Amino acid sequence: MILVSACLLGINCKYNGEHNKSDKVIEYLKDKEYIIVCPEQLGGLSTPRRPSEITSVDGYEVINGNSNVISNEGIDVTENFKKGAKESLKIANLYQCTEAILKESSPSCGSNYIYDGTFSGNKIPGVGVTTALLRLNNIKVISEKEI
Ligand code: SF4
Repeated sequence: MILVSACLLGINCKYNGEHNKSDKVIEYLKDKEYIIVCPEQLGGLSTPRRPSEITSVDGYEVINGNSNVISNEGIDVTENFKKGAKESLKIANLYQCTEAILKESSPSCGSNYIYDGTFSGNKIPGVGVTTALLRLNNIKVISEKEI
């Protein structure tokens, strides 16, 4: 069973109320079993919502309590992101997912890159909060770009 970012399948759960539909991912999953999650919604955030970024380093440091996630209005949404990661892990475990395909560059779902915390569009190497928690629990996470 594969855990998949809901926005990659065309679900309008992205911060701006839209999606990140990937025909490549949909085609790849056609003959496979999968379950979709949106960690930010599972963390209690609304859709649409303000975009958020990790303030320093990446999702591992957020899990460790050494970094935060802040919206572009300066609201601290760290606890929402941690809750979303935990709920996503719970679903992954319930469905015995051993791998995940998550949206690249998201502060929740990124697996190679994230935005640098300045809301200027710059990306840095790093992972989102949900990806970090899944990898800490031995779930393989790749992005839609690696399909
Ligand atoms: Fe997509 Fe993940 Fe962002 Fe939800 S949290 S909209 S699944 S990238």
